[in-house]
Amino acid sequence: MNNIDWQKEDLNYIWHPCSQMKDYEELPPIIIDRGEGINLYDIEGNCYKDVISSWWCNLLGHCNPVISKRLKEQADKLEHVIFANFSHKPIIELCMRLSKIMPKGITKFNFADNGSSAIEMSLKLSFQYYQQTGKPEKTRFMALTDAYHGETISALSVGDCDLYTKIYKPILMDVIRIKAPDCFRCPYGKKRDNCDCPCFEDCERQFEKYGDKTAAFIAEPLLQGSAGMKIYPALYLKKLRKICDKYDVHLILDEIATGFLRTGKMFACDNALISPDIMCISKGLTGGYMPMSAVCMTDKIYNAFYDEYNTYKAFMHSHTYAGNPLGASCALGVLDILEAGEIQKHLDTVTPYFNNLIKEKFLNMDNVGEVRQLGLINAIELVKNKEAKTPFNSKMRLGYQIYKKALKKGVLLRPLGDVIYFNPPLIIDKPDMDYVVNTAYECANEALKEIN
Ligand SMILES: *Cc1c(COP(=O)(O)O)cnc(C)c1O
Repeated sequence: MNNIDWQKEDLNYIWHPCSQMKDYEELPPIIIDRGEGINLYDIEGNCYKDVISSWWCNLLGHCNPVISKRLKEQADKLEHVIFANFSHKPIIELCMRLSKIMPKGITKFNFADNGSSAIEMSLKLSFQYYQQTGKPEKTRFMALTDAYHGETISALSVGDCDLYTKIYKPILMDVIRIKAPDCFRCPYGKKRDNCDCPCFEDCERQFEKYGDKTAAFIAEPLLQGSAGMKIYPALYLKKLRKICDKYDVHLILDEIATGFLRTGKMFACDNALISPDIMCISKGLTGGYMPMSAVCMTDKIYNAFYDEYNTYKAFMHSHTYAGNPLGASCALGVLDILEAGEIQKHLDTVTPYFNNLIKEKFLNMDNVGEVRQLGLINAIELVKNKEAKTPFNSKMRLGYQIYKKALKKGVLLRPLGDVIYFNPPLIIDKPDMDYVVNTAYECANEALKEIN
């Protein structure tokens, strides 16, 4: 079968995620054969530079030899085992090593197999905690506008991106919505870098009203990824930690996208020097090899479920693949690499280079409203009018046009609406940075010329 045959058979059977399948008529699926570093190669040998880490999970490059070796060795030894009453070395070692890098006070780990499931688990944990510690009135959740926490019903409930949630509103939980910081279009006229977060007042108002009825506040720390890589100040998180303590509300941090050095620190909350009560991790955890997630929490939460069986305080929650040995082995490979320290050194030199490069290229473009940077994550928000910050008509699908052009030039960009962003594997080098930034710049200019 040749490339076209494979594409035809793909579309005969497969419903691809997060896609209008009709779009595949003009842009058929790209059949990837192999990966190496930041490069993906299709079956005809064309190369695509994966600067979005294949949905933000590929942390250390495709087919990383250290992780691959761990996976292969584990596959020959033990692929899976029931995780109630049974355990295995890879998962125990993983927890021992994870606990060394966790934010302060995070000591216990419960596993699931994807990000959304971790979010589900964290909400259930928080709810049940208050049911069995004498505050059964705490049944509500708070979350930010523009939040994204995954796509199961409860994850959608705490999320707030219309594209994913709107149609399901009638069947979602009623969540208390707090106006998220919006540093690009700040209604208070403040700048992100030296801001005292007056926008926190909405949060204060809602806590006054609902704090006593709320079990948990869930947030993506510092970076609202799916909302368009919106970045907000660490001070906002500090304030959030404080007010959660005041009202005895759990702070659940969704570090699924931000964990493992994505923001420059091991976890985004490390930038604010705070710890959550519950933290969800996934994506980078296995370096993008195996679906695995973990809900990480304090002893205090764990202990509220610890009692005689007949008190029925146990957390009766399980996923078949929870704590899978193959996933755990990949995660150990990731930690092998991160603990060796070379990645941190690499990031110290390439991060300023990348960020300057992007600023130099894009900042002065007529249609660039803002360039946002956090670690290696860079977002470029395209607007119709730079001064008024007015967006383009979404029907024009500007981001999608840029995406298609970039693919032809061998760069996998996949923008969020009209926000072009880079979230590359941490191993990306300077020549690749030059190439992908130049390509994105060319494609953005071509697409803008066509719609302006
Ligand atoms: C990707 C993501 C999720 C959902 O993870 P899945 O594995 O896709 O279910 C949740 N929260 C954030 C911040 C994410 O980026």
